[in-house]
Amino acid sequence: MDAEQLREYGHKMVDFIADYYKTIENFPVLSQVEPGYLRNLLPDSAPNQPDSFQHVLDGEVAQLILEFIRLYIQAKILPGLTHWQSPNYFAYYPSNSSVAGFVGEMLSAGLNIVGFSWIASPAATELEMIVLDWLAKMLKLPEDFLSAGQGGGVIQGTASEAVLVVLLAARDKVLRRVGKDALEKLVVYASDQTHSSLQKACQIAGIHPENCRLLKATSSTNYALSPEFLSETISQDLTIGLIPFFLCATVGTTSSTAVDPLLSLGKIAKSNGMWFHVDAAYAGSACVCPEFRHYMDGVEEADSFNMNAHKWFLTNFDCSALWVKDRSALVQALSTNPEYLKNKKMADSKPAKTWFLMYSGKLAKLVASQANMVVDYKDWQVPLGRRFRSLKLWMVLRLYGLENLQCYIRNHIKLAKHFENLIAQDPRFEVVTPRIFSLVCFRLLPVRDNESHGNKLNHQLLDAVNSTGSAFISHTVLSGKYILRFAVGAPLTEEKHVNAAWKVLQDKATSLLAESL
Ligand code: PLP
Repeated sequence: MDAEQLREYGHKMVDFIADYYKTIENFPVLSQVEPGYLRNLLPDSAPNQPDSFQHVLDGEVAQLILEFIRLYIQAKILPGLTHWQSPNYFAYYPSNSSVAGFVGEMLSAGLNIVGFSWIASPAATELEMIVLDWLAKMLKLPEDFLSAGQGGGVIQGTASEAVLVVLLAARDKVLRRVGKDALEKLVVYASDQTHSSLQKACQIAGIHPENCRLLKATSSTNYALSPEFLSETISQDLTIGLIPFFLCATVGTTSSTAVDPLLSLGKIAKSNGMWFHVDAAYAGSACVCPEFRHYMDGVEEADSFNMNAHKWFLTNFDCSALWVKDRSALVQALSTNPEYLKNKKMADSKPAKTWFLMYSGKLAKLVASQANMVVDYKDWQVPLGRRFRSLKLWMVLRLYGLENLQCYIRNHIKLAKHFENLIAQDPRFEVVTPRIFSLVCFRLLPVRDNESHGNKLNHQLLDAVNSTGSAFISHTVLSGKYILRFAVGAPLTEEKHVNAAWKVLQDKATSLLAESL
């Protein structure tokens, strides 16, 4: 985030929003456009080169409320923040901010529409469909995930919501087949490295706690789920009358960026009639680079795919992109159709064929023509109301373009490699799992051959580094070992920040080792 650029664009955006409110009564309150109006006005794919800001927005410079910022934000709020956008932030996974993401968020807040159905704000629904088609093409997702067919993309708040809605869709789909009484027999599979959001989703979906199988992944597979182990477990479950119905694989696990083998896992899921979900919340962003796209090989077997644009893709929180191949499964699980929300443009709640049977003449043509063009996103998510989140993703794609986004990812991966090299030069440390993306898992080697001593030492090192305030790192546990995680991904991080953090780590390690002798 460039501070001066932010200043200039931020002023322009505020003026624009103020002018919008000044002239708001000049607009029809209910949108008068026809379905698909935006598709004709926008290109099919995201630009490779950045677009000029002037094409997106025009406005004039205005003043910000400096007094409020000085008295309240600076004095009272800033001291209570953990600075996720600091270049010295290396904890968890990043949560990116950018000029484009910020002004998109600002515009969304300024317009403040609630786009639960197409008619509630046609631009919000249509832009979301278009932008997620763009992003799907950047990720080279199979065509089945595009909105032109039976699938499509939707922005959820978080990856947790994404896995919940697809689990609900999969649950209802299988229960329609085997009967409602079978809920207790349904089984979910994933590795024990899968994000805890899957377990939460199982709890909400009423899956029996013992039927959420988190299969042990070990260092022998670099913490990826073993297809053989999965097959064996499914066979055992089938013999005792259980019903396997959902498999969640991860590209880039939270602890160590392990990549599950999508192709073999997907084939197992398919042969057992299971829904196959791929969680690429963090690492999905890297897959816009051709050299990392192979980590998604096998995604063609998936029923749903998720990546968080708010993690490592310059899009301000929250923006979790979910694609499904069969949107009707989501709609069947999550739609409600109360009288107060009905309108003649409620396409997609019935297949096009049904609309033809229900209506005749002009209306039939009108409604059927809409059936595959618009969706009511309220039926793809848990809440009814939804924000205009596609604006910020659209601005990120337009203002940076694919090539800049690829450079951005590559730069962080280069910095992570640099950190890995620094560790390799200091025999007191070791890299614990192979680095794949921009996370390095490492630890200080214990002086005594004793695991609990090693764990204590690394815990102390983490606390010592974080208490300096000059760098922030986090930890995990792998095979019983306490591991330090160094995740490069804050937009402002440069090599000098990585070097400085490494120096703090080394200095603190020296003191701790001296104390433990
Ligand atoms: N999946 C993975 C692989 C993650 O790393 C995370 C969070 O870091 C999540 C899911 C949950 O993300 P969210 O906070 O968007 O629910």
